[in-house]
Amino acid sequence: MPALVPLTCPRCQAGLDAEPEQVVFLCPTCSGAWQLDDSPESPARLLPLTLRYAPELRGSLGRPFWVASGQVQTGQREVHGWGSQERAAVEHWATPRRFFVPAFKCDLNSTLELGRRLLTEAPKPPAGAQAPFVPVVVTARNLRGLAEFVIISIEAERGDNLKTLRFSLELGEPELWILP
Ligand SMILES: [Zn+2]
Repeated sequence: MPALVPLTCPRCQAGLDAEPEQVVFLCPTCSGAWQLDDSPESPARLLPLTLRYAPELRGSLGRPFWVASGQVQTGQREVHGWGSQERAAVEHWATPRRFFVPAFKCDLNSTLELGRRLLTEAPKPPAGAQAPFVPVVVTARNLRGLAEFVIISIEAERGDNLKTLRFSLELGEPELWILP
């Protein structure tokens, strides 16, 4: 159901410009960054947002990604036949990782591919100057489901005929990173 939110900056009350489907807004007056919180538990509202820009954008339109640090706890792993890779899986997820999910319009295959690539590359928090980026149409609420999808896809390829896998994912506060 579409949420009706007054599109004014919660800090300075200036009007915010929005494309259809857009869920992140930059205030033209005070430079505040806001994200639409569309969680079902509360009425739709604008929440403050931490934005980071890659320094190497240089005039090209950046791509926004939701980013959060996450700790995966792997639980029971059931496989068909022998050769469970449980130990490799536990070692793989032993340290906290940063999860990346495209926040721009992107099909599921590309979301998975980009999410896996950035998880592996593990770029550091960028500290470049503000730059233009394509509209954010995915809310931060989708980060968890898509990060879990990335984890499952990695585990399914571990080569031990995975049948079921239990795991939990603890995610930190999401930020929006603008990458090339
Ligand atoms: Zn403002």
